[in-house]
Amino acid sequence: MQDRFGRTIDYIRISVTDRCNLRCLYCMPEEGIELCQCEDVLRYEEFVRLCRIFAKLGTKKIKITGGEALVRKDAVNLIRAIKGIEGIEQVTLTTNGILLGDYIEELADIGIDGINISIDSLDKEEFKKLTRVGNVDKVKESLAKALTYPDLKIKINCVPCDGDNQNLLDVAALAKDNPVHVRFIEMMPIGEGKQFKFLDEDSIKAMIEEKYGRLTPFDAKLGNGPSHYFSLQGFQGKIGFISAISHKFCHECNRIRLTCTGYLKTCLQYDIGTDLKELIRHGASDAMLEEAIVRAVQAKPMEHSFLQKNIACEEQGKMSAIGG
Ligand code: SAM
Ligand code: SF4
Repeated sequence: MQDRFGRTIDYIRISVTDRCNLRCLYCMPEEGIELCQCEDVLRYEEFVRLCRIFAKLGTKKIKITGGEALVRKDAVNLIRAIKGIEGIEQVTLTTNGILLGDYIEELADIGIDGINISIDSLDKEEFKKLTRVGNVDKVKESLAKALTYPDLKIKINCVPCDGDNQNLLDVAALAKDNPVHVRFIEMMPIGEGKQFKFLDEDSIKAMIEEKYGRLTPFDAKLGNGPSHYFSLQGFQGKIGFISAISHKFCHECNRIRLTCTGYLKTCLQYDIGTDLKELIRHGASDAMLEEAIVRAVQAKPMEHSFLQKNIACEEQGKMSAIGG
């Protein structure tokens, strides 16, 4: 699919649940969010049907996300089913890693094409503070288990919270000691994230260079997303940055998002898209769904305006419901 600005849209992020076993400060309020009613959440067969239609329209890569996807029963079966769809070249997962150790064998068995593990700190106290309830030892165990599968592509995602004095250098060092890429993601002003200042790419780079030496730009593309990467001498993996604010990448955006309630969202910042669940549950044919998807993609906004105030149609939802 191409949008009206000539961008090829071949990647979709699918949030399979809005439930999560952590409460990261920048993503969920302490008391949790008002959860979607079970009957409003797409059933697996509905996700698979939509994925077939997306594949027919040119989607090649699918990221399974949440909330925390692995808290939804049988999430691995959904991933397996999506991997079997003709035309889908890659199915990957983004997880907080808490339950990953329990499912890694099955995920490796079905040939998952990549796993992103979110780790904002390796320090026990700090991790607990940032996630309110999390035990980083569980995530470390999951990572260690995942690393026993040498063919598995693993990336670490870290969202720095400015002013928190977070120990980002230890997280960066995961790429020194292991064959994983570590990416730093600028905090986006969505949901709880609005309360935080973002720590920009240049500040993080300066910290890393001071400790580990010169970051050399790495030009080859790694993965489907907007990250750009750097090499560091002595590091097995690369250091990447996803800098939606300081290095805006909307002109090359290739993605759309599907929430767990079947809303097709065409830009992270705006509540613009189409309600596919309504159509499905009112008996829409595949042709009608295709038409709705194409129409929504045509109306995909040109760019985000995160630094502007009082934006019309601004997304009011939480990141845990959108899927990141
Ligand atoms: N629970 C899974 C996890 O944490 O990886 C998947 C869902 S989570 C919403 C996906 C990603 O979005 C995580 O890497 C998380 O750190 C990131 N994220 C959440 N809120 C964000 C924000 N306001 N700005 C930037 N990234 C955010
Ligand atoms: Fe849960 Fe992921 Fe949000 Fe943290 S970032 S609260 S792990 S959905």
